[in-house]
Amino acid sequence: MPAPGPSTLRYGGNTPCVEVRAGGQLFILDAGTGLRALGRQLLAELAGDPLHANLLLTHYHWDHIEGLPSFEPLFLASTNLRLFGPVPQGEAVRDLVDILRVLFDSSFSPLRPESARATVTPTHLTGGSDITLGDTHIRTCTLNHPQGALAYRLEHNGVAVVYATDHEPGKVDLDRALCDLAHDAHLFISDAQFTPEELAVPGAAGAARGHGSWDASVRLAREAEVKNLVLFHHHPARADEEIDRLLASAREVFPATCAAAEGMMIDAEPDRVHLWALHGRRGQRVSLPMAVQVEATREGSPLRHPAHLKDIGFQGAYFLSPESYEREQPLSVEITWPGEERAFRRTEDEGLVRLRGTVARIDPKASNGGWTGIGVTFTESFTIDVLPLPGGGNGRGDPDAD
Ligand SMILES: [Zn+2]
Ligand SMILES: [Zn+2]
Repeated sequence: MPAPGPSTLRYGGNTPCVEVRAGGQLFILDAGTGLRALGRQLLAELAGDPLHANLLLTHYHWDHIEGLPSFEPLFLASTNLRLFGPVPQGEAVRDLVDILRVLFDSSFSPLRPESARATVTPTHLTGGSDITLGDTHIRTCTLNHPQGALAYRLEHNGVAVVYATDHEPGKVDLDRALCDLAHDAHLFISDAQFTPEELAVPGAAGAARGHGSWDASVRLAREAEVKNLVLFHHHPARADEEIDRLLASAREVFPATCAAAEGMMIDAEPDRVHLWALHGRRGQRVSLPMAVQVEATREGSPLRHPAHLKDIGFQGAYFLSPESYEREQPLSVEITWPGEERAFRRTEDEGLVRLRGTVARIDPKASNGGWTGIGVTFTESFTIDVLPLPGGGNGRGDPDAD
C-alpha cells in the first residue's frame, strides 16, 4: 500500500515505479502509485509530442499496477505503450491486456477500458527472456515471490541496471539465477522490505514472506560484484528514521549503498555512477542566515568548522561550508539560537542546539567565495515553534536550495 504521511516525507510513500532513460528510449519499471506523478511529468516535458514508452512489469500484485488508472498518457490516442510482463498466474488476469480490463472494471471506478485510448502492445516474458529494444539489451530471471515475479537487467552502452524487487532469498537456484543476472551491474536495485530479524520469522501460517532484507541484498550485491546497491521496496510501516538506520547498517558492510527515495535520480556511466538530486525538501522552512558550527568525522578524526546557515525547517537545513562532504555522511549542525529577532525558537530549551543529520545534497562552489552548499536532512526530530519572520518574510527560504 502507498504510505504517505509525516513519517515517510523523506523516502516517500509511493509504491514501486522507476524510470530508466537509455539511448533516447524510455523504460518504466512497474506501475505503482509513483506512475501518476511520472505521467504528469512526462506530459509536461513532451509539451504535446506523443509519448513512446516501454512499461516493464515485474508481476501483478496491486502495488505494482495500481498507478495505471492514474497514468494520464494512457488516455491519449497519441501514446504508444509497449507492455511487458510475465504470464499472469491468477484467475482474474489471464494476460497483459486483461490488466486494463480488470483495473477499469465498473465495480471499482467510473473509468471504462475504452477510455484508455493509447496504443498498447503487450508482450509476455518469462524468466530467461532475452530481448533487444532499440539499442538496449534486456534479460530477465524468475524471482522467489508468491505468484512469481521477474527481475530485469537493462544494458545500454556498457552500463547495466538490474531491477530485482519482490524477491525472498533462500531458494538456491533462484538466488543463483539472480546473482548471475546482477553480475557486475552498475546499479542493483534490490528488495529490502524486511529487517533481517523480521525476515527470520515465518509469515502467518508459515506463509512465504516474498521479500528480502538489507543484509540479504548486501550479500547478493557482494557476491554479484555489483558497483552500487539501492535498497528498494521499503516496508509501508517503516518510518524515515528507521530506513536511515537500515541504510547505515548496510553501508557498514557495502559502502556503495543508498536507499531509494521519492524523486531520487542517478546518472550511470560505464566508469562512474552519480546520485545527483532529490526533489526539494518539503515542508515549511525559514530563511535564517547566521553563523553555525558543523561537526563531522573525516577519516576517523573529528572535524569542526564554522559554516553559514541559509535556511532551516523541520526536516533539514542548508548551509554554505568551506569543507565538502560525501552524500549520506552524518554530521551535526550546532546552532546558537538568536535572541530577540529569532525566527525559530526551540520550545524545551534555548541557546545552543545540536541537530544531527546526513548530507542529502552537495552544490560545489555555491557561493562567490567558492564555498560548498550542503543540504542536510535531519535524522532526529526536534520541536520548534515557528514565529513570524522579522520584516514580514513569508517563512520560506530559497525554493531552489536543497
Ligand atoms: Zn508482490
Ligand atoms: Zn511489491
